[in-house]
Amino acid sequence: MPKKIQILPEHISQTIAAGEVVERPASIVKELVENAMDAGASEITVELISGGLQLIRVFDNGEGIDPEEVPVALQRYATSKIRKAEDLYAIDTLGFRGEALPSIAAVSQMTIKTRVPHSLSGVRMLCEGGEIKSFSEVGCPVGTEVEAKNIFFNIPVKRKFLKSIQTELRYSLNHFLRLSLSRPSISFKFIHDGRILCEHPKTESPIVRIEAILGREIYHHLQPVGFEDGEIRITGFASLPSFSKGNADGIYLYVNRRFIRDRMIYKAVLGAYRHIIPAGKFPVVILFLTLPPSAIDVNVHPTKAEVKFKEPERVFRTVQGAFSFLHGLTSSLTAESYEDQREGRVPPKGAPLFSRSIPSSSVDFSSMREGRGPLPMVRDMRDPEWNVERQTGLRILGQVQGTYIICEGEKGLILIDQHAAHERLLFEKYKKEYETGSISSERLLIPIAMELSTEESFILMSHLEAFQSMGFEMDPIGERVYAIRSTPSLIDQRDPQERVREILDELSFMKREGRGAEAIHTILVTLACHAAVRGNFGLRREEMEELVGTLSPFNLSITCPHGRPIFFVIPLEELAKKFKRK
Ligand code: ADP
Ligand code: MG
Repeated sequence: MPKKIQILPEHISQTIAAGEVVERPASIVKELVENAMDAGASEITVELISGGLQLIRVFDNGEGIDPEEVPVALQRYATSKIRKAEDLYAIDTLGFRGEALPSIAAVSQMTIKTRVPHSLSGVRMLCEGGEIKSFSEVGCPVGTEVEAKNIFFNIPVKRKFLKSIQTELRYSLNHFLRLSLSRPSISFKFIHDGRILCEHPKTESPIVRIEAILGREIYHHLQPVGFEDGEIRITGFASLPSFSKGNADGIYLYVNRRFIRDRMIYKAVLGAYRHIIPAGKFPVVILFLTLPPSAIDVNVHPTKAEVKFKEPERVFRTVQGAFSFLHGLTSSLTAESYEDQREGRVPPKGAPLFSRSIPSSSVDFSSMREGRGPLPMVRDMRDPEWNVERQTGLRILGQVQGTYIICEGEKGLILIDQHAAHERLLFEKYKKEYETGSISSERLLIPIAMELSTEESFILMSHLEAFQSMGFEMDPIGERVYAIRSTPSLIDQRDPQERVREILDELSFMKREGRGAEAIHTILVTLACHAAVRGNFGLRREEMEELVGTLSPFNLSITCPHGRPIFFVIPLEELAKKFKRK
């Protein structure tokens, strides 16, 4: 009888192991750039063809690999970075497991060209599916060039799991930007299909690199952060309350210059901004934590995207401490004076921070929307004969917390979330306009220039058509600078940049969550969400009637376009039960 348990043939075990490291082209980009950094390079170039599906090439001017060691580097667990187990707790390089090169070699057609400084020529080694196919001497500059072609050519199933060229390119670009952000002293370049997408010359100043990556607009809202507690040191930049984003993409955490994700640190950061920026918004934070290597374990995650702290509570408290400046701001500054504070001018005291008004129970339409004109409703309510109760069978009882409308219906109490409901109404209205081609566009008298971050600009370029069909006319006028020439008439003409940025945030978020909603859908949702009445706003009786009245003709899907419920019903029977009448 054949044995049940058998050792896998080498090519299978190699593929399994490689799967841990190489999930997609972006993983290869990350590993190769990290190797180049570890090799002390001062210039690193990443070149992709077809989002990296066809080719990934990374070259550097680092220390190179000795000719006789090139085949060794290809073996699993071959590394120059550690020697003994204790070294794992004294790591100052990004790599240490010796897994990247063998993994990349196992799943692609890989070529290494490398030359060390004291040698007159270099070597070139070609591998396919992990096997060395050729090895020869070549002329090449000092440094290393690794090229990986046709990723997963030998594992068709894995290749099928890859996404579109644009999406794969975005993953790679994200890794690239994170790495570049952490080393301003290195020059970075990213080329796609022969076009330079990013070029970051080396600089002494981290803020110059941040500006190059995140855009000038954000840079103006950043404040340097510096804090120390014993052996834990924190430096970086954090956005002032004057700025926030719709997603957490602007939070970059590094531990000993390694980009990581860490729920605990996220929590400390977001906690610091609570009540300082609106709920559901996120700051931009670039944070570098430096700890003695012995205080962290970097060997806990297959792609080294997480670390384990020896004293997590202390790290948490130190991060909190680094953000205590925010609370100083809130007690004594007005929104306008942040700039002054940054520039060292003395801030005026005594004025409350944000005048985010929470209106009392009776507000008129215009004040409710901060002077942006009446609520964009769906139906003309001026007909004096119209009566919400007669029309819908719902009697409005009132509003709770300026957020929920309570009605009495035939079968029980109905609670409506005013924002969610209004958002759904506007979404349906905009969608209809879009489908019937009646979205009108307005030309701005003076085009507005808008500078985007590298990622935002990338998302915009991938969805330009969707923006156009919604009435936005935008075109590039410089590197990452776009002119907004027309906007859909349904948005406020005064701050179209805000809307564009929100849409870009949302598009990026949807992509990452793997929710494949179409760009058009996302744009419609974002515009509806913005125009819809907020929570925490008192509504007058007529306004509630109008909202509830307009809900009825719709075939009500019971969620807002984001998927939150619009209303729920407390059946009369339920009430009777609660009061023990039944
Ligand atoms: P690790 O980075 O964990 O050591 P890798 O498989 O990524 O493992 O690389 C194996 C070894 O090859 C490295 O330890 C290093 O000595 C050498 N190497 C890889 N890439 C480069 C490079 N770009 N420049 C110089 N040496 C390199
Ligand atoms: Mg490595």
